[in-house]
Amino acid sequence: MKKQNAEGDGPSMKICICPGSFDPVTNGHIDIISRASKLCEKVIVAVGNNKVKKTTFTIEERMGFLHCALVNLPDVEIDCFDGLLIDFAKRKEASAIVKGLRAVSDFEYEFQMALLNKRLDYNIETLFMMTNVNYSYLSSSAVKELAKNGGDIEGLVPDCIKQKVMEKFSAK
Ligand code: ADP
Repeated sequence: MKKQNAEGDGPSMKICICPGSFDPVTNGHIDIISRASKLCEKVIVAVGNNKVKKTTFTIEERMGFLHCALVNLPDVEIDCFDGLLIDFAKRKEASAIVKGLRAVSDFEYEFQMALLNKRLDYNIETLFMMTNVNYSYLSSSAVKELAKNGGDIEGLVPDCIKQKVMEKFSAK
């Protein structure tokens, strides 16, 4: 479907943005990004670099983790942004922002952000994808809580970052 649309058979989603803090990236994020890449010609993973929001991993670490986890997805680009997401999406000429939804608790905040962003730019859609049932309980903070307390994070984060995540906490 993606390839046909790319050849000019009608409207297609050319560029989609998957935003987040990715502190660190989990298999739940990777699932959403890879599903989005099947629908869009190019996915830009936008890593928030908000100086006020304190993160455990630096922007370089978070982007490095994404690069290694997404090496097999050639249509996915990794970038960072500060300021408003909608301005970044506009600069990148994106058609849509794609977000994952896990539970009702995600909904209220996401609903508010989607409506605000729609008000700021009517032409950029926010699309929601239901979490993969296997990752519905998974969050970056749950991973950090486990790692901090010596729990096993196998299967929760991409294999190539597992060691580095554990090291961050053993160094503290
Ligand atoms: P933020 O800190 O900006 O909320 P996150 O990095 O935690 O961002 O998440 C980025 C996006 O990924 C959000 O849309 C969030 O709902 C989604 N997401 C996070 N974890 C999962 C998961 N396990 N399944 C589906 N979507 C998820």
